[in-house]
Amino acid sequence: MAQEPIKSIQGTEDLLPDQWGPWRTLYETARRLFERYGYGEICTPIFEDTRLFVKGTGETTDIVEKEMYTIASGDPSTGSGQGAGITLRPEGTPGVIRSYLEHNLHKQDAFQKLYYIGPMFRHERPQKGRLRQFHQLGVEAIGSDSALLDAETIILAVQVFREIGLRRFEVSVNSMGCRKCRPGIRSALRERLSGRVGELCGDCHRRLERNVFRVLDCKKEPCRAVTAGLPPVPDMLCADCRTHYEQVKAALRGARVEFAEAPHLVRGLDYYTRTVFEIRHSGLGARNEICGGGRYDDLVELLGGPSIPCVGFAMGAEATILAMESEQVAVPDAALRPDVYVVSFTEQAQAECFALLQELRGVGVAADMDFEGRSPKAQMRAAGKLGVRVCLLIGPDELARGEVTFRDMADGRQRAVPRASAARELQSFLKSAGPREQGQS
Ligand SMILES: [Zn+2]
Ligand SMILES: [Zn+2]
Repeated sequence: MAQEPIKSIQGTEDLLPDQWGPWRTLYETARRLFERYGYGEICTPIFEDTRLFVKGTGETTDIVEKEMYTIASGDPSTGSGQGAGITLRPEGTPGVIRSYLEHNLHKQDAFQKLYYIGPMFRHERPQKGRLRQFHQLGVEAIGSDSALLDAETIILAVQVFREIGLRRFEVSVNSMGCRKCRPGIRSALRERLSGRVGELCGDCHRRLERNVFRVLDCKKEPCRAVTAGLPPVPDMLCADCRTHYEQVKAALRGARVEFAEAPHLVRGLDYYTRTVFEIRHSGLGARNEICGGGRYDDLVELLGGPSIPCVGFAMGAEATILAMESEQVAVPDAALRPDVYVVSFTEQAQAECFALLQELRGVGVAADMDFEGRSPKAQMRAAGKLGVRVCLLIGPDELARGEVTFRDMADGRQRAVPRASAARELQSFLKSAGPREQGQS
């Protein structure tokens, strides 16, 4: 008895060729703009030593506490990850900083702008727009604490979203303070919350002790009711952080980026300092974040490097694609559509068709032919379905005369073309015809 085919893992998704339109728009736009803003691409492994995330992402975060895919044994053959194990990366930043330090990039030039695009892995309850393998596009500007850079990263994210056609998104910003003022903010928050511990959820009880900022991040209604009454975090900042935050906001206003101040906004990661921001889309459900980021001035040092300030963001590709769908953004058709189909009328003509096919591709023409031994009629039908502009027909007569029959699919007219010049003729015909219109089939 035949076995059941093996299915994909829950929370993972296949991307089929006809689904690539919006992905391509997002990836190509992001790459182009990241590079225009001076970012170079970096590709780091999808698995790292678990300690990198425990330290970098933060051991009190939901990600590290509940959502990491870890191979506890590490790799016994090499000793890699022995002790803490190996983890599939739940986010991109720690790996980028690890790589930056490992390759001594800070010794070449302390200021570096790096971007990445790739899959991340979190063991969450699968739901629409949230997968266990998902994709992020991120930037990290390493080596400056300039408030202008914070503004620039936000402006960059906004420009990417605008250029892919999104309109219904909102930017929220806040500042979470620095090493100097955070302990004071922390204890003030703890003090205000301690009287209302009974109203907080179980997770927040723990957060109160371990990382009180995370209480502000709790999505549960009773906790939100309690935190709504807390003083704005920016009111508790030290003078330097306050100035920095004002500069970020002034630069955003100067760039005409609309934003809302969100005085209780914190991010789900431990490493943020000063600026944090989120971009949410109104066409999505409860989890409507399409981009999140901020400044992380202590992370490089935390991971064993010198004290180097950084700022960055990560965009969620799946959520962004859903946002594009909700706004019905027009995207190019990603399905492959050759311009030319080579039709063989007999088995003998097939070899000649195959040779011509390679010639066409060699001069840059997108062309295809039948590989299933179908009848000429079925081949013509296939060509029509593909929406090609030209069919090149080869049968016994064409073989004998050293010709190819050129059929213009727009008007059905046919003419004979010398076999030797067929590829060149095709090339110039397609050039003079201009690009094919979108959506034409
Ligand atoms: Zn401060
Ligand atoms: Zn809570």
